[in-house]
Amino acid sequence: MPDLDHRQLEMLDKMGIDIWRLRQRDDDAADDDATADPAATVAETDDRAAAPAADDDRAAAPTVAEPNAPNAPNAPNTPNTLDTLDKVAMEINQCRRCQLHATRIKAVPGVGSVQAQWMFIGEAPGQNEDQQGLPFVGRAGQLLDAMIAALGMTREQVFIANVIKCRPPANRDPVPEEIAECEPYLHRQLALVKPKVIVALGRVSAQALLKTSESLGHLRGKVHQYGSSNTPLVITYHPAYLLRSPSQKAKSWADLLLARSVVDSAS
Ligand code: SF4
Repeated sequence: MPDLDHRQLEMLDKMGIDIWRLRQRDDDAADDDATADPAATVAETDDRAAAPAADDDRAAAPTVAEPNAPNAPNAPNTPNTLDTLDKVAMEINQCRRCQLHATRIKAVPGVGSVQAQWMFIGEAPGQNEDQQGLPFVGRAGQLLDAMIAALGMTREQVFIANVIKCRPPANRDPVPEEIAECEPYLHRQLALVKPKVIVALGRVSAQALLKTSESLGHLRGKVHQYGSSNTPLVITYHPAYLLRSPSQKAKSWADLLLARSVVDSAS
């Protein structure tokens, strides 16, 4: 395991990761991947933070103008040299390309630096995110912040987004049509940020990005590629799942170290 400074050790401690156990695993060269560990192949059934909530937390659909109707000339899959993260966010905030616009309170475009080397991508906003318009808030967000801090970065230095920008009702999984309508926004964000690595957080995000139904356990532990840019993609657990299954945190840390090795090799 690479040397860690005091602050990173503190963050790993806050993540609940046993440093000595990690070091012992490294020393013994006994670290395995999810495919060799039955515990890691347990499917995640709901990896977002908020439990299904009553639908009374939603306001009426926004009544803003509709610049992104299907077949509109400014369709969201048209990155160009004039594109900016702010422009993408503005279009997302006004988007009605799928049915989720009708039940959202706020769209959640994503946050972070256009110069980020790391892009973390979750599945979809939960209840807190829907209310605040920000990704990964609440306890899962705090754990993600601790994971990022353990890597020696802050939330402001990375880019955090979701595959789907509006909350599915009762936190259900997004359907393929919603993913297909929304993913071009992610493509534009990716084209602008040009990260050295994408970290997919959770089963649904991983499956949506890789267009697969393989289990998270089978997808972890290797470097995939995403999009026409072939951006390296590493899969790990969703922070909300880690809150429920803290024994998986060490594996998540191993995933982050794999992602860091990708960034380091590209530098
Ligand atoms: S989920 Fe995506 S495609 Fe659907 S309305 Fe929201 S921003 Fe538009």
